[in-house]
Amino acid sequence: MAGKQLVAVTGASSGIGEAVAKVFSRAGHPVLMMARRLERMEALKLPDSMARQVDVRDRAAIAAAVKEAEAEYGPVDMLFANAGIARLADIGRQPPEEWDEMIDINTKGVLNSVHAVMSGMMERRHGTLFMMSSIAGRKVYPDHTVYCGTKFFVHAVSESLRDYLSDYDVRVVVLSPGVIETEVLSGVLDPQTLANYKANKLKIGGGIGPEHVADLMLHTYQMPQNALVQEIVITPTRQK
Ligand code: NDP
Repeated sequence: MAGKQLVAVTGASSGIGEAVAKVFSRAGHPVLMMARRLERMEALKLPDSMARQVDVRDRAAIAAAVKEAEAEYGPVDMLFANAGIARLADIGRQPPEEWDEMIDINTKGVLNSVHAVMSGMMERRHGTLFMMSSIAGRKVYPDHTVYCGTKFFVHAVSESLRDYLSDYDVRVVVLSPGVIETEVLSGVLDPQTLANYKANKLKIGGGIGPEHVADLMLHTYQMPQNALVQEIVITPTRQK
């Protein structure tokens, strides 16, 4: 079945989501791209693609974009629930408003995205959900307290969804990248936290390119539907 079915990507306007949209498009898939910065997605000029301005906190907006794309290209067979922000900070000094935003986008945003496509995949007994967690969804790091909380949440939900959806032949793959070179640092508002993060990144020799994550995902997706890579863990070699 792989090769031409519609794929949906949240957070497709930069970083890993953009790389995944490009790689799946090159492989011949129509792509539904969702994020807030519409112009960034439109500038990619991917063939057979639809870009929609969607905030993943808005459940109805995701559902509407999926419905529109499915009317044009057929059912979504792959969702990348990727949109997320990293408001890293010293937990003792972090303003609670930053937790609210991060929790809403990184946890409820993922659920909202899954909700828009899950029942269709169950009916068709076919589909793949890629859930964006992080290496920080497997272990904790300094300044990552609430971020880790959101990513452990994604891990837990993914494990449970995998159990539930396996009876419907729907695959659930959790992504656990380490440091990837993207715009994710723009979410770090505290200068000291930013300086610490950058120093650590330098120490491990920098991050790796988002295209490597995208290539792994395409390979995972193209495996037969009865073969499931449950988790992709990819980090810079020197990252602890
Ligand atoms: P980027 O900042 O480059 O990309 C984040 C994407 O999420 C953007 O397209 C952004 O689009 C989108 N986004 C953020 N908030 C919303 C929202 N409310 N509604 C819709 N889209 C939203 O960073 P990455 O590519 O690195 O981040 C992608 C995911 O990867 C995140 O979940 C992040 O936590 C995770 N991750 C990143 C790692 C890294 O080192 N880079 C490591 C491990 C995990 P827009 O602003 O246009 O809405």
